[in-house]
Amino acid sequence: MNIILLGAPGAGKGTQASKIKQRYNLLHISTGDIFRANIKKGTEIGKLAKSFMDAGKLVPDEVTCEIVRDRLTWDDVKGGYMLDGFPRNLFQAKELDKFAEIDLCLNIAVDEGLLTDRICGRRVCACGESYHVSTLNGVTTCAKCGGKLYQRADDNPETVKSRLDTYNTQTAPLIDYYMSQGKLKTVDGGTGAPDDIFAQIINILE
Ligand code: AMP
Repeated sequence: MNIILLGAPGAGKGTQASKIKQRYNLLHISTGDIFRANIKKGTEIGKLAKSFMDAGKLVPDEVTCEIVRDRLTWDDVKGGYMLDGFPRNLFQAKELDKFAEIDLCLNIAVDEGLLTDRICGRRVCACGESYHVSTLNGVTTCAKCGGKLYQRADDNPETVKSRLDTYNTQTAPLIDYYMSQGKLKTVDGGTGAPDDIFAQIINILE
């Protein structure tokens, strides 16, 4: 099964992706992670992406679509995958339809008022786990792998505003796009613990 995870920044796409991966063994492909890995390695793609990411803007479509198109030619996608953070606008969604078969678009809906606090309090680990400062009680390492937690460069109040604007104007229209294809399922990502939200996802997937 090939799934798109749709949702505003801070909706919990990464958190739910790691739960889905564990239970259903689906490959997790995050365009944000791909860009961050490129920034770390200092590649040309990383240099280009950084300026857009720092401004809370989308990296140009041609670059992003080509990365995903190429990634979906690898052998490891054959058992099914989740796209996290792609597509992020209608152009990307239409391009994706040319080179992929998507079965389901899981929309994680969260009230906008909750998102800024979630994002600015987020601490992440290189292994993909994500936490919130309010529940860490001063702990600075990952409970899963022991790695050092850090704050993403774009998880700050200035960039978050721009990322939310970008989501509202460019990404939210994808809800209608996938609804009209009969592929959209929405879960409430704003109430309850991550496991409660995951329970809704299990209901949909089974
Ligand atoms: P994320 O980790 O999904 O929150 O993405 C972090 C940043 O990476 C975004 O704010 C964009 O600047 C960039 N990015 C990730 N996915 C895409 C995409 N599909 N299209 C354009 N830019 C993206």
